[in-house]
Amino acid sequence: IGQITYRRETLIPCTPKGVVTLLEHNNIPIAGQNIVILGRSNLVGKPLQLLLTNLDATVTLCHSKTKKLAEESSRADILVSAVGTRPSFITTADMIKEGAVVIDVGINLVNGKICGDVDFDGVVNKASYITPVPGGVGPMTVATLLENTLIAVNSQI
Ligand code: NAP
Repeated sequence: IGQITYRRETLIPCTPKGVVTLLEHNNIPIAGQNIVILGRSNLVGKPLQLLLTNLDATVTLCHSKTKKLAEESSRADILVSAVGTRPSFITTADMIKEGAVVIDVGINLVNGKICGDVDFDGVVNKASYITPVPGGVGPMTVATLLENTLIAVNSQI
């Protein structure tokens, strides 16, 4: 996180880096966009906020004490949900701007089934892009772990 702050990053945490790769690979603009992240963990929210800020987005980091969360999230061109407390917290359609890009980082076990933070069925017709769970950010994290492994090995040669 310190290295990203000073833009001297070497190894970037896998999940945030995977999210950025996913956006860039799909030609989704980042610079100048309003991006709202739900969740401020050291693993996901904080490094992702820094990475996206360095890429010229305007980033709002929300958490459990954020007031009027739905108001904040509804302003997002890109909404990233990384909470993981479903069913007590669900990212629903009324929290999302029409046409927003929705990145679901959350992994929850509900009634024996893996699901994300986002009410996928409710949001899928409102969002312009949405990542599924399982199958979205998770595989990006795994791929980025392999990418980081190669970067780490190459840095020692
Ligand atoms: P974490 O350390 O538990 O952080 C969760 C964040 O969510 C905290 O900042 C917390 O706020 C916030 N939060 C909790 N309840 C909230 C609410 N009602 N409204 C708004 N914010 C709320 O979790 P994490 O490690 O960042 O992981 C988050 C989720 O992503 C989990 O489901 C995890 O399994 C998943 N994950 C997935 C991948 C992947 O590859 N797909 C990788 C990493 C994590 P406070 O700070 O105020 O407590």
